[in-house]
Amino acid sequence: MKAKPVLVKLALLLIVSASLQACSQPPREHRETLLVFGTLVEITLYDLDEKKATEVISGIREDLNAMNFMWHPWEPGPLGRTNELLAMTRWFSGNPSVMPLIERSRKLAKQSHNLYNPAIGKLIALWGYHSNKGLASRPPPAEEIRKLVEANPQISDIVVDGIRMKSNNPAVQLDFGAMAKGLAIDREIDFIKSQGVKNAIINAGGDLKAIGKHGDRPWRIGIRHPRKDGVIAALNVNDGESVFTSGDYERFFEYQGKRYHHILDPRTGYPADQSISVTVIHPDAATADAAATAIFVAGPQQWQQIAKDMGIRYVMLIDKDNTVHITRAMNARIEFTEPPEKIRIY
Ligand code: ADP
Ligand code: MG
Repeated sequence: MKAKPVLVKLALLLIVSASLQACSQPPREHRETLLVFGTLVEITLYDLDEKKATEVISGIREDLNAMNFMWHPWEPGPLGRTNELLAMTRWFSGNPSVMPLIERSRKLAKQSHNLYNPAIGKLIALWGYHSNKGLASRPPPAEEIRKLVEANPQISDIVVDGIRMKSNNPAVQLDFGAMAKGLAIDREIDFIKSQGVKNAIINAGGDLKAIGKHGDRPWRIGIRHPRKDGVIAALNVNDGESVFTSGDYERFFEYQGKRYHHILDPRTGYPADQSISVTVIHPDAATADAAATAIFVAGPQQWQQIAKDMGIRYVMLIDKDNTVHITRAMNARIEFTEPPEKIRIY
C-alpha cells in the first residue's frame, strides 16, 4: 500500500532470516522475497518439494499484486474509483473487490472506538502520506486539519443496500493502509493451506502470520527495536498466529525537531504522539493489523480498554518515555534482548 524504507525492512528480514537459518536444514526450507505493497514480503515454506513450492509462490505473487491494485488508496483502481464516487454522496454500484474491506472494517472500527478509522483518507493525504514522491517537509496548516477533523468521516457514514452503496458524508475517503496488509496475509495463508501446505510463515516487513512449525521447533521471530538497529525481543509464534507491529519509525519526517509520522489520531488530526511502538498477537491478521494501529493511537492511558474491546490478549506498547506496557500474557511469551529499563505489567 505504501512506499516504505525498503532497506530498513530488508535489514529486519535479514535478522529474522539469520535466526531462522541457524536452526534450519536448508533443503527442507523454501524461501522467497517479493516486493509488493511497497514492502518486502518474505514467504517461507517448510517441508515442500521444489516444484510445488514454486507453484505456490507464484500463486501468492499474482494474488498480492492483484490486491495491491484493488486496494491501493491513491493509484487509479477500484478503491480510487470508489473514493471518487463516495465523494458524490449518491448511490452507486459497489466494486466487489472493495466491499469486503468495508465490511471487515465496520466491526474493527467500532470495537476500536474509531481509533482505527479507515475513512480518514483525506487527512492522510493532507499529511502527504499518499504520495510516491517522498514525504512532506512540514505539517499541513492547522486550519485544514481542524476542518477535516470536524467533518468527522466514519465508516458508518457508508450505507450499503445489496450491491449499491453511498456515503452520507462527503468527507469520507477510504484508506485501508492500517488493515489491508493483514487481510492480504490472512488470504494468502488460507490459499497456501488450500494447497496442502502445513508449515509456513509470511512476513511483510515484521508483520506476519505463521502456520505449523519450523521442523521440530516453533517459528521464531524478532520484534524490531523502535529506536535502535536490531531487535528488542524475540517470540515463538504458535500455529495460526499473527504478530503485527505499528511504529512511529516506519514513515515520518521531522520539522523543527519534532517527528511527524504516518499513524494519525482521528480525534486530533495529528500523528498520535504517546506511543512509539505497539506489537500484538492474534489469530486473525486483519484484526491484529487494525488493533496494532488503534492501540498505538490509544496510547498508554487508553490501550487496555481498546485491547479488551478488540479482543486482544497479547499486547506490548512502548510509550514515548520508553516505558514498556505489557499484558501478563504477552510478558510470559516475549524474550527481551536486554531487560527493559522501565516495564509495567498489566
Ligand atoms: P504499517 O502498515 O506501517 O505497519 P499501520 O498498520 O499502523 O502501519 O498502518 C498505518 C497506515 O494506516 C498509514 O500509512 C495510513 O495509511 C493509515 N492510517 C493512519 N492512521 C490511521 C488510523 N488512525 N486509522 C486507520 N488508518 C490509519
Ligand atoms: Mg495496522
